Amino acid sequence: MPDILTPLQRHTCMSRIRGKDTKPEILVRRGLHARGFRFRLHERKLPGKPDLTLPKYGVAVMVNGCFWHSHKGCRYATKPKSNGEFWEEKIKRNQHRDEVTTAHLEALGWTVITIWECELRGKEAAVQTRIDTLAWEIIQAGQMKKQGQTQRRLARLSARQERMLIVQRQNDLEAEISKVYQIPQKIKTASKEID
Ligand SMILES: [Zn+2]
Repeated sequence: MPDILTPLQRHTCMSRIRGKDTKPEILVRRGLHARGFRFRLHERKLPGKPDLTLPKYGVAVMVNGCFWHSHKGCRYATKPKSNGEFWEEKIKRNQHRDEVTTAHLEALGWTVITIWECELRGKEAAVQTRIDTLAWEIIQAGQMKKQGQTQRRLARLSARQERMLIVQRQNDLEAEISKVYQIPQKIKTASKEID
């Protein structure tokens, strides 16, 4: 079947699909808000300006259009017949950018959760179920984050205790040596001055 849109029309149409505040994005925002979550939109300070971020949980949510982000095996991810190479190139670039962004965010300690447009296209009940699952995933990630923080805090604490122990042992050793060798006070202070 030939593409009924001219390349320019196709371009305008596609850029509209890609824009911010798409319908799936709004569904996710509303659903999370209704479940008591608070989030930031398109945080500029983070790689890829994720659609939603929930700093409290350390979660970034990407709401991906199936065509633009080439959802594997998805019926909405079919490429336009005309200008095939152009779209293929563009979609490949998007895919690469998604991978880089995810890796970057994860390196910064964020959990990245991707929601696909097709998951939000069904009946209302199915959409709500998907958002319930998302809420659950967010809470899980938040608990992992908290556990990580506790572990880091414990590690710092034990490192400090270890340092204190070493100092204590050194002091004990010095005390022991000066007891055995009876170093006169004068020499001790003199050697300190040389240091
Ligand atoms: Zn899809």
